[in-house]
Amino acid sequence: MITVVGDYCPLCGKELGRRTAEGRERRYCPSCDRIVWRNSKPVASVVVRDGDRVLLGRRAVDPHRGRWGTPGGNLEHDESPAVGAARELCEETGVRVAPADLTLFSVDHTVKPDRSVVGIRFVVDRSSTAGDPAAGDETSAVRFDTVAGFEADGGVSPWDRDLLAAVFDREADADGAGA
Ligand SMILES: [Zn+2]
Repeated sequence: MITVVGDYCPLCGKELGRRTAEGRERRYCPSCDRIVWRNSKPVASVVVRDGDRVLLGRRAVDPHRGRWGTPGGNLEHDESPAVGAARELCEETGVRVAPADLTLFSVDHTVKPDRSVVGIRFVVDRSSTAGDPAAGDETSAVRFDTVAGFEADGGVSPWDRDLLAAVFDREADADGAGA
């Protein structure tokens, strides 16, 4: 399986041909006699909530360098989404959480010409986490603040804007239902 359009077999290096399978034209390796499936790349991220504040990291890498984003990243092949999200949270912010304490919030799919992404988004309350925020891998600063506070200080990554709005919207809906 590959996530980009490939011209060569990832296993044997031979040039790939084409073959129709399951209703689509696929890349096919005649040497290995196998279809090279192309799939989206899974990523996982965590929104840590503390009242009306969230834990974001200032991106020290492109794209959107200098903007604030939710901790998260690529899943390793042998870890579940919750385990990967907890690992990324710790690597990027120094804040620790038990994977079992993460609540699945949403799953989204972003189609790009080069590589599409399945985003698996978790939420957790600050009270279920441990450790003080400290900049780590791929972040130049981390802190709890309101979304408005981050927007006034460099801005929130466009990837995370809708997610953060949805997290607070859903809570408002839940409060309204209970009132
Ligand atoms: Zn091959």
